[in-house]
Amino acid sequence: MPRPLVATINIAALRHNLGVAKRCAPNSKVLAVVKANAYGHGLERSMRGFAEADGLGLIEVDNAARLRQLGWQKRIVLLEGFFDTSDLAAIIEHRLDTVVHCIEQIEMLESTQLGGRLNVHLKINSGMNRLGFLPSACKAVYQRLHAIPAVQDISFLTHFANAEDASNPRVSLAQQVRRFHTAVEGLPGERCLSNSAADLIHPECAADWVRPGVMLYGGTPANTTAETFGLKPAMTLRSEIIGIQHIVAGDAVGYGSSFVADKAMTIGVVACGYADGYPRHAPTGTPIVVDGIRTRMVGRVSMDMITVDLTPIAHARVGSKVVLWGNDLPIDEVANAAGTVGYELMCAIAPRVQIAEIDVLEKPNHSI
Ligand SMILES: *Cc1c(COP(=O)(O)O)cnc(C)c1O
Repeated sequence: MPRPLVATINIAALRHNLGVAKRCAPNSKVLAVVKANAYGHGLERSMRGFAEADGLGLIEVDNAARLRQLGWQKRIVLLEGFFDTSDLAAIIEHRLDTVVHCIEQIEMLESTQLGGRLNVHLKINSGMNRLGFLPSACKAVYQRLHAIPAVQDISFLTHFANAEDASNPRVSLAQQVRRFHTAVEGLPGERCLSNSAADLIHPECAADWVRPGVMLYGGTPANTTAETFGLKPAMTLRSEIIGIQHIVAGDAVGYGSSFVADKAMTIGVVACGYADGYPRHAPTGTPIVVDGIRTRMVGRVSMDMITVDLTPIAHARVGSKVVLWGNDLPIDEVANAAGTVGYELMCAIAPRVQIAEIDVLEKPNHSI
C-alpha cells in the first residue's frame, strides 16, 4: 500500500478557470503562466488543461523545450528571458519568445551569432522595481533591439506590484498603467500587463494579452474568495488518519509540547507533514476536513505527520478521509491561517506526494 497522501489534479478545473480568465478579458489573448511546474500541478497536465490558451509563460528554458516535445505549438514566453548566451541556441531551436529586461541581455543578443530569429518582449519597470527598464529608457532600448537583425517582433510587458490592492499609496495600479502606456506610446508591438488580480478585478487593464497564473489553478490573489470569482480548485490534497490518541486535560501533543489539552480530547494523526509541502508554520487552529467535517490542526507540524482535533468527529477512526486543501477547503484559507499565500502551498507540493488526475468538475460540499 502506498502512503495515503495524494494530490488530485483536476484537468476540468484548469480548463474551467482558463475560461474564467478569458471571460474577464474577452478581447485579449491569454498567456497562461506555468512556471514552477505549473504552480505544482505538473507541466504536462497543465498544458492539456490550457489547450485553449494562446500561449504559455514560464522561467526555465529546459521546461520550455519540454513543452515543445510534449506537442505545444503555440507561443511560449520565457518570463525572465535568458541567463546566458548558451541559452540562445535552444531559444531559436524551440521557437521560444524571450523577455528582455536588462542591458546585459541586449548585449548578449548583439554579440551572439544566432542561427535564426526570435521574438522579444521588452519589460518595463513601471514601479515594482524588480525586473525591467525604466520607462524613460524604453524608446532607446526599443531602437537598440530593433537594430539587431535576429530580433523579429518586439512586444511590451510590465508587472503590477499591487493589482489586488489597487489604491496602494506607495505604488498604485493607475500609476503603473500610466507609466507603462507613456513609455510605449507610439511604438508598434503588442502590450501585456495583467496578472490574475488585474484580470479578475481590473478588466480595464486587459491589453493585447493577459498573463494569469494563480487564478488558473483555483487560487485567488485577492481578498475575495476564489469561489466568488467562479474559480474551481485544481488541486485537492487528501490523506487519511493513520493513528488516534485519547488524551486528558493537561496532556501535550507533538514536538515542543506546544499544544496542551484543556479537556479530554481525541487526537488524529494525519499522513502529511512539512516534507510533503504542508506549511510548517501552520499554527494550532489551521482548518482541516476529516470525514467531511471541518476541524482544526493542533500542535506543531512534523516532517511526515500533523495532528488534528477529532473531538467533533465521533466516528473518526484509522482510515478516515482527510482533506488538507482543495475541494471543500479553499487553499487560500489554509494559507491565510499559516501566514502565507495559496501560491506557496501549491508550489511546495513535494515530489514524494502521489499525484492522481481527474477530468470532471466536482461539486463543492457547502455543508462543510
Ligand atoms: C508569475 C507571473 C505572473 C502570474 O501572476 P499571478 O499572480 O499568479 O497571476 C504573470 N506575469 C509574470 C511576469 C509572472 O512572473
